[in-house]
Amino acid sequence: MTQKIHVVTLMPDAISGFLKWGVVGKAIKHNIFSVDLINPRDFAEDVHRTVDDRPYGGGDGMILMTEPLVKAIDSIGARAGTRVYLSPHGERWNDKLARDFAGNLQSSPLTLICGRYGGIDQRFINAKVDRMVSVGDYVLSGGEIAALAVIDSIARFLPGVLGNEQSQVTDSFADGLLEAPQFTRPPNILGQEVPSILRSGDHRRIDQFREALSMAMSRELRPDLRTNNHDRQWQLSRELLRSVSRDELRVCGLSPQILDEIYGDA
Ligand code: SAH
Repeated sequence: MTQKIHVVTLMPDAISGFLKWGVVGKAIKHNIFSVDLINPRDFAEDVHRTVDDRPYGGGDGMILMTEPLVKAIDSIGARAGTRVYLSPHGERWNDKLARDFAGNLQSSPLTLICGRYGGIDQRFINAKVDRMVSVGDYVLSGGEIAALAVIDSIARFLPGVLGNEQSQVTDSFADGLLEAPQFTRPPNILGQEVPSILRSGDHRRIDQFREALSMAMSRELRPDLRTNNHDRQWQLSRELLRSVSRDELRVCGLSPQILDEIYGDA
């Protein structure tokens, strides 16, 4: 059975346009999963097909009315599965949630609900929403970009979507850290040369080097990603990185500060 994601949106074209492309587009073409778009405007009953109205109590922005949204959601019925409203009020989306949702999608569908304007009537949320998800502490003008981020990041964890399943293991966050920097040909450009280990063909050393770089990079850019045995691993990584020249580590994007920490006595 194809894994199914429904998206309730006033801008179905924005979603479908994006989903034609890349690995996600290919996965949809190959029926690994499918996305159904439901437009609440199709369920509005007046001649103008109105879906929004002014907020009670005043204030800026129109609010999506309950009724067209309820009809849209009810048209999906039990096939909706878990109903998620994209909202700044939601749980912050991350790698772990993307994995969990991908796992659940194999047994139960997912419905993403996109707000617009000033948001949606709270009574719809109370009655019809199972969970809320936010893509970050900022406000978008609609849930569509958030829904696309959620769909794209889930799709990467569905079996068969990425050509190379290995990237699920080495990509950033898979092991709680950022991925090591990447290089491709030519070996020398912009006065910077690819570190020789990466061209050595010694895959054991390459893996160790990448792991150590991933530690250093995360320590510098995302200290909040620290894992339990981070400090011990960091000492090991430091030792390994010290065997590489400062120039090579600079090419890897490490800052003077972290290089001092690597080569220093600390
Ligand atoms: N007035 C609301 C924001 C409305 S923005 C507030 O201050 O909380 C319009 C719609 O964009 C929302 O209904 C929601 O679906 C979507 N949206 C905005 N920011 C988002 C975010 N960070 N994550 C997920 N969805 C978001």
